[in-house]
Amino acid sequence: MKIYITTPIYYINAEPHIGHTYTTIAADVLARFYRMAGYDVFFLTGTDEHGQKIYEVAKTQNITTKEFVDRNSEIYKKLWDVLNISYTRFIRTTEPEHEETVRKVFTKLLEKGALYKGNYEGYYCIPCESYAIPEDENNPLCPDCNRTMSKISEPSYFFRMSKYAKQLERYIEENDFVKPDFRKNEVLNFIRAGLYDVSITRKNVEWGISSPTPENYTIYVWFDALINYLSGVGYIQNDILFSKYWPPDVQFIGKDIMRFHHIIWPCLLLALDLPLPKVIFAHGWWTSGKDKISKSKGNIVSPQKIIEEYGLDPLRYFLLREVPFGLDGEYSEEGFKKRYNSDLVNDLGNLVNRTLNLVETKMSGIIGNETPEITLANFAISVFEEYEKKMKAIAFSEALEEIWKLISFLNRFLDEKAPWREGCKNVAEIVNSTIYGIRAATIMLAPFIPNSSSKIWKMLGFDGDPGSKGFNLLNQNIPEGTKVNKREIIFPRKK
Ligand SMILES: [Zn+2]
Repeated sequence: MKIYITTPIYYINAEPHIGHTYTTIAADVLARFYRMAGYDVFFLTGTDEHGQKIYEVAKTQNITTKEFVDRNSEIYKKLWDVLNISYTRFIRTTEPEHEETVRKVFTKLLEKGALYKGNYEGYYCIPCESYAIPEDENNPLCPDCNRTMSKISEPSYFFRMSKYAKQLERYIEENDFVKPDFRKNEVLNFIRAGLYDVSITRKNVEWGISSPTPENYTIYVWFDALINYLSGVGYIQNDILFSKYWPPDVQFIGKDIMRFHHIIWPCLLLALDLPLPKVIFAHGWWTSGKDKISKSKGNIVSPQKIIEEYGLDPLRYFLLREVPFGLDGEYSEEGFKKRYNSDLVNDLGNLVNRTLNLVETKMSGIIGNETPEITLANFAISVFEEYEKKMKAIAFSEALEEIWKLISFLNRFLDEKAPWREGCKNVAEIVNSTIYGIRAATIMLAPFIPNSSSKIWKMLGFDGDPGSKGFNLLNQNIPEGTKVNKREIIFPRKK
């Protein structure tokens, strides 16, 4: 079984912030989960590098546009390494292979009669790289970013989007394409209000892919960007790869780019006679002190800073645990610390630490392979079944809650059995059972906090890495005579 997962490609006119980090970590967690579940995963991410905005920002920095995009794309790539993102391919829209595919798609659409030449009269927001209709023509402010838009009037190629409205409406009604569910009506209402044809070329923008037409326009940056999901898996260029992975199974986006992804993108695919993506999931925004955290507003929470202070895995954990995926979240240092100390330090860290301490002091550091206590074993299995359902439903915070049910169960189990008391007769049975439960939790946690899960795994004395094991290890006995390794504190308490 295959699964094709994407993040949006990020527009590199500024450095990455917590919003980019959030989308990409979410996609990474899902990719890791499906790999462990035995799927053949293709995980695509990358950078969006054309358009007027990038051209203008590069000019202000006195470097060539090419130098600018090379440098900034590298910043994203490096951060993805820091965030431990397990992508299959990092695509850049300035790659010749992508540019070639975009031109071929354009030609295909022309041949199919899905494009026509007209004149675009209207407003354009350069920071957003979007065509928009202002409320007030005398003071034309962008409905998305509230900045003044430029008026343009120029010949342009249009995509006949209106033609696909009915077909798209039906697809959305009949499928789980728009996620989360509460977004579905929003998208349907937008379509039912009537779709316009969209302009897909620009006349005087030089930093872009040139159109395969005599006029030599450049192709509108959003149109170029959406095609990355096709070129990324070899559309036109690599039929074997493409037929293996198409269509996308889960595409992650922020809610600010729904219109491009829930409407323009599927219409484009309908025009190309290609199967549509299964799910496009729009997550919410992180706010800090009531404002959306974004590059255009400048109130940036730096992921690097949090990582320096707490480490990577606490960040990965917090982002997916704190807020149900799909809703908005409020970021605060205080909230982060609270979540860190209670869940990771007290519940998980303490459980691992005191159990290993028991193995060292009461069992000479050797774990046995006894059959685990039956209620505990059953509980671990029922937690896994729920966890699996939640992961497949992209309900990350609920999946983590399930794991924490098991962690709490194990802490209670130890408290009640108290194997540290004088004269306890079945120490090994209690501790081995707890280890069995910790191993299950560690496997389920591996997609979320891969480094910490590996560390716990090694301390328990197991071979390899939990992320490279399948979930079917969950209900197997622990190998006889496993020797635990030196203990370390994985999550130090923060004051
Ligand atoms: Zn704008």
